[in-house]
Amino acid sequence: MPIELSDRVQTVPPSGIRRFFEIAEERDDVISLGVGEPDFATPWAARDAAIASLEAGKTSYTANRGKRELREKISDYVADRFELGYDPAEEIITTAGASEAVDLAFRALVDPGDTVAIAQPSYISYEPGVIFAGGEVLSVPTREADEFKLTAEGLDVAGAADADLLVLCYPNNPTGAIMSEAELEPIAEFAREHDLTVLSDEIYAELTYDGEHTSIATLEGMRERTIVFNGFSKAHAMTGLRLGYALGPSAAINAMNKIHQYTMLSAPTTAQHAAIEALDSCANDVVEMVDQYDRRRQFVLSRFREIGLDVFEAEGAFYCFPEVPEGWTAEEFAEDVLREQGVAVVPGDVFGAGGEGHLRVSYATGLGDLRKALNRIEAFVDEHV
Ligand code: PMP
Repeated sequence: MPIELSDRVQTVPPSGIRRFFEIAEERDDVISLGVGEPDFATPWAARDAAIASLEAGKTSYTANRGKRELREKISDYVADRFELGYDPAEEIITTAGASEAVDLAFRALVDPGDTVAIAQPSYISYEPGVIFAGGEVLSVPTREADEFKLTAEGLDVAGAADADLLVLCYPNNPTGAIMSEAELEPIAEFAREHDLTVLSDEIYAELTYDGEHTSIATLEGMRERTIVFNGFSKAHAMTGLRLGYALGPSAAINAMNKIHQYTMLSAPTTAQHAAIEALDSCANDVVEMVDQYDRRRQFVLSRFREIGLDVFEAEGAFYCFPEVPEGWTAEEFAEDVLREQGVAVVPGDVFGAGGEGHLRVSYATGLGDLRKALNRIEAFVDEHV
């Protein structure tokens, strides 16, 4: 008898980018602008703290929500950087990456048949997370004409007034869009009016290049209906250490902790030691990395414009989202530029509604490789367009 798989797991299609990895393996000179992770190593002070904790034998579980000292530092950090006020005892949980936090929120808040509106294009894990939790996905497309910012009109047209939850991610993966306080206000108003719980993925909050990040949870009446996700993967270049966190009202965080304590017990202990140090002493490292990303961003945007591909002014995260030339689908363009020129980018469709006809280009890669990759894309465009 073959093992019978659950309907839920079978409903979710395999990741749309797997095929590209197979093509990439056919060449040995591929430059990848496809990945969503920093090319920087974790700042040394954080690595040293992790090593010291191992040497001291600190390898046990921690409290389910994470070390108290870490939650206190997170509380201070988000207050200082983003004007968010959360109690370390009841309103903060640390997790194995922001990914676990997002998954816990879906499982803690979604009942079978509940509708979760997702502002798209967006990070690829939200949709499967909703389906695994038994919910229904409602895509809310954003448009290049709005610089991929979510609008109240877009929510209304998509039918989000009847949804139970709304997921948004600014600074955005894959577009690099950010939203200001003034632009978030109508979204907050919509959420209040239609009684939506908001899941706000703010993992790129440190990575903005013009102006500061605003959390929707700081807007009037939003703290009590919002869960904020953040973590150490992006700003502190700690992807492999697996440490994220969620902030929210105690009832929701306690419910998430209930699942976490049975499924994960606690976030990785070594990573928690690294994270305490990261918050203590690595603010300058973050500033330096952000400065490098900004230089790369300006270079990539100006090169795409020289090449003749339309690209809107991405202001956050480490992605830009150029349009493919007329006559191409994003998938065709991405596949051919990979086969012919050995440059890997991701077709925008993978990220859901609104991503069609675009490419996600990550600039979490050194300027030398970015230069080469853009030259190759230029050669490709010169030959075919
Ligand atoms: N949210 C977004 C928007 C992301 O881009 C990513 C990573 N690509 C994650 C969450 C997952 O982060 P983590 O490593 O903390 O699980």
